[in-house]
Amino acid sequence: MSKVIKVLKLGSGNGQRDPHQKPNRALVAGGAGFLGSHLCERLLRDGYEVVAIDNFHTGKRYNLSVLLRDPRFTCIEHDIVDPLPAGLAFDEIYNLACPASPPHYQADPIHTFKTSVLGSLNLLELARRNNAKIFQASTSEIYGDPIVHPQPESYFGNVNTHGPRSCYDEGKRSAETLFFDYSRTYGLDIRVARIFNTYGRRMQPDDGRVVSNFIVQALRGKDLTVYGSGLQTRSFCYADDLIEGFMRLMNAPHAPAHPVNLGNPGEFTIMELATLVVAYTNSRSKIVHRPLPIDDPKQRKPDISFARNNLGWEPKICLAQGLAHTVDYFDALLYGSRMIKGAAAS
Ligand code: NAD
Ligand code: UDP
Repeated sequence: MSKVIKVLKLGSGNGQRDPHQKPNRALVAGGAGFLGSHLCERLLRDGYEVVAIDNFHTGKRYNLSVLLRDPRFTCIEHDIVDPLPAGLAFDEIYNLACPASPPHYQADPIHTFKTSVLGSLNLLELARRNNAKIFQASTSEIYGDPIVHPQPESYFGNVNTHGPRSCYDEGKRSAETLFFDYSRTYGLDIRVARIFNTYGRRMQPDDGRVVSNFIVQALRGKDLTVYGSGLQTRSFCYADDLIEGFMRLMNAPHAPAHPVNLGNPGEFTIMELATLVVAYTNSRSKIVHRPLPIDDPKQRKPDISFARNNLGWEPKICLAQGLAHTVDYFDALLYGSRMIKGAAAS
């Protein structure tokens, strides 16, 4: 059963898009999440009417508190695994719905898999009915524990099919398959982004991913928990850069014939990240080691040549700048301004 959090022109029309209408109505599945809320904000700024659909599994209502004041914004509480509410008509659909942090996506692995597969099917069918352009938030986890480094889009990856990460990795791989089969079968205009580790404002303090964990631990004066040796690497992209990449990919005149890597090619070990966070927070926290999770990828760095050459996109915000903004955000959320603190309490 879906619940509309704020009603706006829902259920009007017959679910068909007027072909003469300006392309300005967007659906963001997962719109209450970290990246989804940034995307909704950007689309509203660019003049769209936006409907977010979210089951609030990891997303938060307060991520939408400012957006809900905008008459062009609506949010529907609904799980995309279930049939979508009738009467929805859109020009563009963005599928960001899926828990992205390992502890969250592993908490209910079967539902995570269903979200990627059944949820994508529901949204693809909606796109087909509306003749809408549809975007899929895929992931660098497609490459698993990569042997090729850095990872170009042409690399097929090295993924375990039956480990604790597989619900996410294989779910996202299946979703890519569905997107390209819908494109080949029905001529649907699809855009598939393979997103590498992204961080920034509106991550949850209990998200469980490394950047938010380290910053929150450092600000609270707790030990920073490095899993394993900390010599494994990741490439960290700031959210604002990534959202610009989404827009470039969605608005490119021709749909790329394959998924497109979006991420920051700067590569850091997890120990380097921990040391930077301790420095930027002026924390006295110590760095401690905890067991490495099963199938944790040893290295990851995007080859973004395609996005650079074809979308004119590359990240502008380096890790030092992005971490500084994110530390300020969490500092305000945990200890600071009343507006954000109120959100933290809800
Ligand atoms: P997030 O957990 O903050 O956001 C996911 C959102 O989807 C949440 O609001 C959640 O409540 C919602 N959701 C989950 N399952 C749903 C369902 N069945 N029906 C409706 N809503 C559902 O994560 P995020 O970092 O914002 O990631 C957004 C998307 O980008 C995800 O699809 C993720 O796989 C992808 N991605 C993110 C990163 C990253 O580093 N942030 C990297 C690779 C891919
Ligand atoms: N990690 C860590 N401490 C934490 C959380 C994560 O050392 O508190 C490590 C994790 O083992 C992985 C890297 O940081 O090697 C990135 O983890 P995250 O969960 O952010 O993303 P993913 O593994 O999906 O890339």
